Amino acid sequence: MTTREPDQALSVDDLKEKILTHLHVSLGTDRNKASRQAWWRAICSAVNESVFDGLRRTQRTHYKEDTRAVHYFSVEYLMGRLLSSNLHNLGCYQAVADAVEQLGLNLSDLEEQEEDMALGNGGLGRLAACYIDSLATLNYPAVGYGIHYEHGLFQQTFQDGRQIERPDSWREYGNPWEICRPESIQEVAVYGRVETQHDPNGKMTKIWHPGRTIKGVPWDIPVVGYNGSSVNVLRLWESRASDFFNWDVFNSGGYIDAARENVEAETISMVLYPNDETDRGKELRLIQQYFFCSCSLKDIIRRYKRAHGDDWSQFSEQVVIQLNDTHPAIAIPELMRILVDRAGMPWEEAWDICTDVFAYTNHTLLPEALETWSVAMLSKVLPRHMEIIEEIDRRFLVEEVEIMWPGDEGKKRELSILENGGHPRVRMGHLSVVGSFKVNGVAAVHSNLVKTDLFPDMVKLWPDKFVNVTNGVTPRRWIKACNPRLATFLDDQVGDNWPAHLEDLKKLKAKADDKAVQKAFMEIKQQAKIDLASTIRHLTGIQVNPKAIFDVQIKRLHEYKRQHLNLLHILLLYRRILQNPDYDIHPRVFIFGAKAAPGYHLAKEIIYAINKVGEKINHDRRVRNLIKVIFLPNYRVSLAEKIIPAADVSEQISTAGKEASGTGNMKLSMNGALTVGTLDGANIEIAEEVGEDNIAIFGLDVDGVKALDRDGYNSRDYYDNNEELKAVLDWLEGSYFTPSNPGELAIIKHSLLDHGDPYKVLADFEGYVAAQEKIDGWYRDPSVWAKKALINIAGMGKFSSDRSIQDYVRQVWKLEPCNIADK
Ligand SMILES: *Cc1c(COP(=O)(O)O)cnc(C)c1O
Repeated sequence: MTTREPDQALSVDDLKEKILTHLHVSLGTDRNKASRQAWWRAICSAVNESVFDGLRRTQRTHYKEDTRAVHYFSVEYLMGRLLSSNLHNLGCYQAVADAVEQLGLNLSDLEEQEEDMALGNGGLGRLAACYIDSLATLNYPAVGYGIHYEHGLFQQTFQDGRQIERPDSWREYGNPWEICRPESIQEVAVYGRVETQHDPNGKMTKIWHPGRTIKGVPWDIPVVGYNGSSVNVLRLWESRASDFFNWDVFNSGGYIDAARENVEAETISMVLYPNDETDRGKELRLIQQYFFCSCSLKDIIRRYKRAHGDDWSQFSEQVVIQLNDTHPAIAIPELMRILVDRAGMPWEEAWDICTDVFAYTNHTLLPEALETWSVAMLSKVLPRHMEIIEEIDRRFLVEEVEIMWPGDEGKKRELSILENGGHPRVRMGHLSVVGSFKVNGVAAVHSNLVKTDLFPDMVKLWPDKFVNVTNGVTPRRWIKACNPRLATFLDDQVGDNWPAHLEDLKKLKAKADDKAVQKAFMEIKQQAKIDLASTIRHLTGIQVNPKAIFDVQIKRLHEYKRQHLNLLHILLLYRRILQNPDYDIHPRVFIFGAKAAPGYHLAKEIIYAINKVGEKINHDRRVRNLIKVIFLPNYRVSLAEKIIPAADVSEQISTAGKEASGTGNMKLSMNGALTVGTLDGANIEIAEEVGEDNIAIFGLDVDGVKALDRDGYNSRDYYDNNEELKAVLDWLEGSYFTPSNPGELAIIKHSLLDHGDPYKVLADFEGYVAAQEKIDGWYRDPSVWAKKALINIAGMGKFSSDRSIQDYVRQVWKLEPCNIADK
């Protein structure tokens, strides 16, 4: 591989010496007995010399220049591994790789020592990680705030095809990337009661007497920008028992009680909630959200006051806070509380500050995913915040809704932050819209649906509040670091500025017909497929043919993402092959990666069904190796980085209107996979960029789905009228795939026929099969395929997270880039 690092300040000899020194002085071992883990740590420590220096210079520059900064509030960050990404961004990957090789080791092997930092579920958390990478790269002052979970997303294994969850202990043996900052600890209160006092002038004040307090300990993870620019920080809060709150118990001999209270306090940041369980009225989840929002706001205010004292007039000029979904929406009443109750500010003035500071990103329209909290629980956990929310709502209804729609009680009911009824609830989406100055969806179609279907009347009140920012992904991790062969190829074809200027990829389009370029691309893809085949062999014991089409569906398991539609197509091919020994398709390997939320029964049954069908197909000689089905366990960022470079086909087959954007679709297309997809989320924009000849679009669009819902959808019609569809659904019901437990897979058929097929799987089946046949046809001519793949890569400039960040800066954040001083 060629060496073309932009900033090679350190020689290979320097690096060797640093690594060996850290092996001695940081790890207390030497090269003769060091474990691979010790070597990995020594490399991290050597790298951290540069990382920490960049961090110090960045923080110093931001402080001296008193810059406006964005504060990204997210309960999830799906960071993955940091070593390779940091080395690439520092511009010293090749030098370190050479140094490690001269020490008799292999850097890629050592990278496997790192546990993924999996403090998120899926797309939303990975988006936050890509955004903080781009913010640092573009030199914008920014802090990511979140929760320092002791256990991230569960680790997945399969036992007889069923998902088993195990705790994820990503930092059991420490984590070299994080720095504890005890000097910035915050205290957070919960529970208790509110006392109302009237001073002699008749002014009412509220005093919250908390039931208990918790300590928030910040851990900083430096975020290195590409090309030695800024090093920003991701600040994650860990909960601990407050110094104050267990003293009395302890002194009165209640050692066990004191210890128990410690455990309870530490429980708050103990585990990440897996997706589905969020809206089950989990008190702990609410406390998690409040805990990190309160710590983060106090941290922001502390920093602001260092420069501005008690003068709040500049606050909204210095601070913007982006709410990544509604999970941090409780920050809105918390800032009101701090300003009104603590700083003694009049309500109106405080509200003006709030609504200049917060902006909100909506990530979903799925009703079950829209957060609400019961008024009863909020009143118990955060009694003062509940009062503040009621006051925000009262003023909103009187000052906005009543003015626009006088006397319209129906409108008030629809728009109110409170959903009244027997068990009233707080609608966090409504609170977020009312409390923010901008609201954005995450792809064009989704942002439109936010306006037309989710908050149509809010749009009438505030037409300019609603904007679109289409998601993006960082090309540093998702091309340069994970697919080095493709990166070198791109350097040769379009010059080496593409990692920071992804639009440069469009130069590749003119070369898409060039046979030599096509051949070079296909060889790179072939190598990646050979690598993945070896990973598959290692993880599952199954041998796959690297000449087959690698057809990939990797994402959380959910009915709306329709892994079961993919399964029905696999069953159809299997049946055709069995029925017709001459049936001719290009060999295909179907590769899945997906975790199901532990409480999501049907999702787990779909995993089981794919595994059982796969078992049968993979061992059936009559299949002649035409198809194989691989479900790789424990899908996560580091596994995505191995799968994506090797993908030929990207499955993006959600029901139109359900996937807000998707980002997996972008990562795969960037690496030269062709999309089989619906007109949903960012697929629509991908199709616009690559052209309809270079993507296999099928199925209902948003209007088609709505029309079916309006006119009455009957999935049974499709079953009755498509003989092959009927046959494969009936096949699932029998004992063919589960001989020891007949009928075990029938639940999938029932969900589609007897429970209304809410995600229109059967309606889209025929179109999906046709799209797959088109793919098969294209792949038979390598030149046709290579051309389409190259045009896909060429069209991906738009989907860099750098572009998304620039969209946020222009439309929402209004930031200036800040160059970092050398000293
Ligand atoms: C990108 C990514 C996702 C999101 O994938 P979608 O296909 O957009 O749902 C989820 N998990 C991981 C590990 C990712 O890297």
